[in-house]
This record gives sequence, C-alpha cells and structure tokens, in this order.
Amino acid sequence: MQEGIIVKGIAGFYYVELPDGQTIECRARGKFRKDNIVPLVGDKVVIEVIGSGQGFIKEIKERKSQLIRPPVANVDQVVVVFALKEPDISFTLLDRLLVHVEENNLDCILCFNKSDLDNDGIFEKVNKIYSQAGYKVIKTNALNKEGIDELKDFLKGKISVFAGPSGVGKSTLFNCLQDKVVMQTGSVSEKIGRGRHTTRHAQLIRISDETYLVDTPGFSVLDLSFIEPHKLQFDFREFRDYLTECKFSSCLHVKEKGCAVIQNVELGNISRSRYENYLEFLNEIFEARRTNR
Ligand code: GDP
Ligand code: ZN
Repeated sequence: MQEGIIVKGIAGFYYVELPDGQTIECRARGKFRKDNIVPLVGDKVVIEVIGSGQGFIKEIKERKSQLIRPPVANVDQVVVVFALKEPDISFTLLDRLLVHVEENNLDCILCFNKSDLDNDGIFEKVNKIYSQAGYKVIKTNALNKEGIDELKDFLKGKISVFAGPSGVGKSTLFNCLQDKVVMQTGSVSEKIGRGRHTTRHAQLIRISDETYLVDTPGFSVLDLSFIEPHKLQFDFREFRDYLTECKFSSCLHVKEKGCAVIQNVELGNISRSRYENYLEFLNEIFEARRTNR
C-alpha cells in the first residue's frame, strides 16, 4: 500500500502521483464506493500498486475542502489575480470573488499583475485596502518575472487554484511558475470576444514537492444569492473584529444606531470601498430573495 494524490481523472481512470514523482494509473476499488464517494482530483489516496504502473485506489482520505468548479478536493488557497491596468480593476468583482473565497474557507493571496503598467500608484492604493482587510498582497510582472519568487514562496507545500477575470495574466503567470504548463480554459478569444469553454477536466500540476496548481481557473460563477443575509458580514474578514461591538446583535451594519462597523468605516479602519460593496451585495441578496418568493 502506498499513499499518493490524484492529479488527473479520465473516464474511470485516476492518475495518482506518488511522493517520488511516479504516476500510477488506477481504478477505484475501495470501500468508499459503497458510500457513493467518487474520487476527485486532489484526493489523497491509499493505493495498491499491481506492477507496470497500474493499481487500485483502496482508500480516500478525508477531504479538507471541495470545490465544485472545477471539481477539485483539498485546495488550500486561491490566488486571486487582477491586473493593475489593462483591464482596470473592478473592485466589485474583486470583493465578490473574496466573498466566495471566504464562503469556501480557503486561504487567499491577492496577486496584482502587470506592475509594469502601473504608472499611477494603483498598487499602493489596492495594497492599502486589502492589506488592511487582512489579505496577503503581492505585485507581479509576468513578463519580466518580477515578484514571481515571492509568489512561489506562498505556493510552497499547498494546492492552489487561480481566479480572476480574463486578460489579467493568469495563464502567463502559470507558465512562469512552470514551463510547459498552459492553462486551457477561460481565455478570451480575441476575434469573437467571448469566452471559450472547453470540457476538459481539471488537473493538478506539480511545481515542486507537495506543491500543486490546479490548471483550470476557479470561481467563474459568482452568484451570491445562496448566502444568508446575516452571514455575509463574516465574509468581509476585517468586519469580524468589530461585530461584537455593535449595539444590536442583529445589526446588519446598514444604518442601525450604534453600529461599530459604520463607526470604523468613519475612522478609516475599514475601507469605504469594501463597505460599499458589502452594502451592494447585501442588497443583491435581499433582492434575490424577494424575486424568488
Ligand atoms: P488570462 O486571461 O488571465 O489567462 O491572461 P493571459 O495570461 O492570457 O494574459 C493576457 C495578456 O496580458 C497577454 O497578452 C499577456 O502577454 C499580457 N500580460 C501578462 N502578464 C503581463 C504583465 O505582467 N505585464 C504586461 N504588460 N502584460 C502582461
Ligand atoms: Zn453594525
């Protein structure tokens, strides 16, 4: 029996990478099948090797996390990528993505790419907002590799998935992190100007020992309507410090008296753009509930 990680799955075959880098082609044949558990890319598994690079998955270790799109288990963190310019940052989209990261209980690195185009100090501004909110923020230039070593340090020992709008440099960053790797989805076809969707399954790409990247970007659907209105506040991590200080425990921080969140926006401890997006999302959630009734 040996332990490994599923890096790829195709038509009932699972490709399990062992610690020595060897890949074993496996079929599922464990007790988990009785429980209707289907092996997922990212699963840590126990396999029985039957020679000539083939084997059986006997056991699936408990999953730490499970993403739906792409379907990958045990993702540790999301690398949220935006470009400092071309395209301009959409703060609504960025905060919406972060809400989804928090809902999935994942760690997160904010990577602002195209640092070569930042002539107006945009990085300084976003670094202030998101460092204050409690996120790790880095800037990169995928063309001249500035910041790539720092990014690599944050990836070490983890399974990471990229997220962010198209055109920000996700595929280019990916290729910097490992030669040969080309991201297969999400890129915009310049001629017809809309997303190309392939039906390819996600794979894990090993970039160093115990360090993997999901080769397909995540969080492409950013609907918020499944979130309970009173739970949204916890997805803004910098709010959490103040929530117990609000006068009313039911406070939604909209215009209630004695709201500590609003006070700390006034004091500059919570960024106004983050707070305004919170209000917008809360409104969106209420609106979705009204129309669904
Ligand atoms: P994706 O859609 O997020 O995967 O973005 P791509 O990796 O396809 O990059 C979109 C465009 O931005 C390509 O033309 C890249 O060459 C360019 N690009 C990527 N990184 C940088 C960067 O750091 N600086 C500049 N100026 N351009 C970049
Ligand atoms: Zn409040």
